Amino acid sequence: MRLASPYDTDTRWSAKRDIFWNGYKLHVSETCHPQADGDRPARPNLITNVATTYSTLPDSKTLDAIHHALQHRSLLPARHYLDSGYPSADLIISSRRTYGIALVTPVLLDTSSQARTQEGFAAHDFTIDWENSKAVCPAGKTSTTWTPNIQDGVPKTVVSFAALDCIPCPYKRQCTSARGNRRQLSLYPKELTEAIRDARAQQQTGDWQRDYALRSGVEGTIRQATHTTGLRRARYRGLAKTHLDHSISATALNLIRLHAWWNGHPLDRANHSHLARLQLSLAA
Ligand code: SF4
Repeated sequence: MRLASPYDTDTRWSAKRDIFWNGYKLHVSETCHPQADGDRPARPNLITNVATTYSTLPDSKTLDAIHHALQHRSLLPARHYLDSGYPSADLIISSRRTYGIALVTPVLLDTSSQARTQEGFAAHDFTIDWENSKAVCPAGKTSTTWTPNIQDGVPKTVVSFAALDCIPCPYKRQCTSARGNRRQLSLYPKELTEAIRDARAQQQTGDWQRDYALRSGVEGTIRQATHTTGLRRARYRGLAKTHLDHSISATALNLIRLHAWWNGHPLDRANHSHLARLQLSLAA
């Protein structure tokens, strides 16, 4: 909330990788269609929403407002392709429940040492019996305690196995190095746990990765927005006016795209490097 400028009290300093800026954050949503199918040219992708926020607001905190705005204009998609900054298990479920939207987005992989090294038993290797509040480990042992609690404001359940089972277990080295000599799991509520497991399993498949490649088209839109309408630099002061500027720029981009489409010159959305573009223009 720290003010960054006496001239514009809505701007904030923010950083992303090697970029450090004082200003706002812009979130762009657009339709996405597959490339041309046979003789039928690809339909133009049109911007359906722009959201302007404080630059320090995390992407995940913006998603519900974006969905709400799309719903308000009857433009909700069935599937929403997002980069990894937006999703959380909560949002995957609430987007489906509230708006009927399936989020297509990479979720964080299991960061436990067992999952990272792919040599031990990660949480997804355990069978969870939610109805009876028990878990069964890969060695076939049943958990002995099931303790719901709150961790950092998030409801979780800590599931423990008995040291009497774990100490003599032949798989212990692959399963736990805990001082207490017994394996513990920390589970989100059932619906969240299952959503995370499904999402992690799906994103390992080639089909999911081919489908997710559709999202990369918006990178071309961001480049077009910054190069054609100069969106990198705010023209006005204040969040409200800057959002108006973003909305008008998006409208201009849509008109450029529709003009190209109506005149039989749909914009080339293929991703060519500068060198490839030079070779293409020399060959023409
Ligand atoms: S160490 Fe314990 S929890 Fe892990 S597989 Fe063996 S018995 Fe099961």
